Amino acid sequence: MNQVSNIADRINAVRNRIEALTVAAGRPAGSVSLLAVSKTFGTDAIREAMAAGLRRFGENKAQEIRDKSQELADTDVRWVMIGHLQTNKARDVARHAHEIQSLDRIELAEVLERRLQLEGRVMDALVQVKTSSEPSKFGLDPAELEDFLAYLSSQAPSLRVQGLMTMAVNDPDREAVRACFRRLRELRDTMQRKNIPNISLERLSMGMSGDYDLAIAEGSTEVRIGSAIFGDRSYTSS
Ligand SMILES: *Cc1c(COP(=O)(O)O)cnc(C)c1O
Repeated sequence: MNQVSNIADRINAVRNRIEALTVAAGRPAGSVSLLAVSKTFGTDAIREAMAAGLRRFGENKAQEIRDKSQELADTDVRWVMIGHLQTNKARDVARHAHEIQSLDRIELAEVLERRLQLEGRVMDALVQVKTSSEPSKFGLDPAELEDFLAYLSSQAPSLRVQGLMTMAVNDPDREAVRACFRRLRELRDTMQRKNIPNISLERLSMGMSGDYDLAIAEGSTEVRIGSAIFGDRSYTSS
């Protein structure tokens, strides 16, 4: 069993820290939003977070989104897919999620577009970009970003592109972590100047429990916070 008490207190603490970091970075208060990452935690914990005012939850498995959707069918929860998505699981995401932040290849965009058309739905999307050379990280090679955005612009009307997402390198060297966030912002700035039709790049989803201070300093508009809200995932939950 995970410790799920005090979720509201933790959410408040994270919100306060986000606001303090935003202002300290010289950015307008309220310009960084909080995405709670509920992967591995049960719907009782999610209900507790919803009672504290959250509606959007990040999950990294299509099946978990499907199962939790059923358990929370009485709520207005909004699921955000943040994990690597295999094309054979795209249907669950097209059916149940409101947004995908891990859109990282044409093959996936193609399948999602087809599934969304079948469902009669549209979905917000962020393109996940690889900003470190760590072999384990998913995400699009930055060199392929312009072509991918051009593809989405003309071929994927059901995916409303709103920005970019990244995960920083897992490194105790904070400068190396910060460089990943800076890289994403610079890539975004470069792509924005190309004025690709139907593509908005306003949003930058970057920063997790351990590094969101650096992400906010580099221009994050949305931080994805799991353990700082729900607790440690190292022991298994239901
Ligand atoms: C798990 C996860 C997070 C949250 O990580 P924490 O360190 O628990 O805050 C953020 N983004 C992605 C893509 C994740 O998979």
